[in-house]
Amino acid sequence: MSDPKRCGACSVCCKDLMFEMDGALKLAGVMCPHATPPQGCGIHQTRPSLCRAYFCGWHHLPSLGEEWRPDQCEVLISLRAPDGVTEGIDFTLLGDHERIIWLPLVRYIATLIVDGAPVYLSLPGGVGYQSPWVYLSDNKALKDAITRRDLDATTAALKAALQICIDYPKTPLPQAMREAAPLTSEPPVE
Ligand code: SF4
Ligand code: SF4
Repeated sequence: MSDPKRCGACSVCCKDLMFEMDGALKLAGVMCPHATPPQGCGIHQTRPSLCRAYFCGWHHLPSLGEEWRPDQCEVLISLRAPDGVTEGIDFTLLGDHERIIWLPLVRYIATLIVDGAPVYLSLPGGVGYQSPWVYLSDNKALKDAITRRDLDATTAALKAALQICIDYPKTPLPQAMREAAPLTSEPPVE
């Protein structure tokens, strides 16, 4: 069955993800040179397989309505393994940190954790920096709050988890990755 959802004016994944393209590394936070926002991808028909394979949670998770489109809700949902081991559903808060108390987000994360899904929360790291993240599915305070169906405590636990991301020291990408980043329009990280 075809996917009824359309990216529309959203180009979030074309900017906020880091990936190799045309033999070069595109850093997170740098818009892909092929993107033509708000029209979308300028090479849609011939876009790389990597772009075709990208798992956009909003597209692939059927229960998420239009309000979850990443440029609208400022939450990017991806399938990835920030720890390099456990692939899970990652929620990246793109804008205002207060988004963490958005009720549909709190409820959806709680549902996924009840279902036993591996869930991450992350923030953009900035151009040339690693994205800070936390693993939510083994967070005891969060799991206890969800089990008790205590919405306030669940929200508080998510805020505390987000604070860990906020407080995480800015960590530059490894030197080799920074040197292999000709697609960035930003100066290299010192
Ligand atoms: S983040 Fe999702 S909705 Fe936005 S452009 Fe990428 S695939 Fe489309
Ligand atoms: S090639 Fe197209 S779909 Fe892929 S990142 Fe660039 S603009 Fe986005």
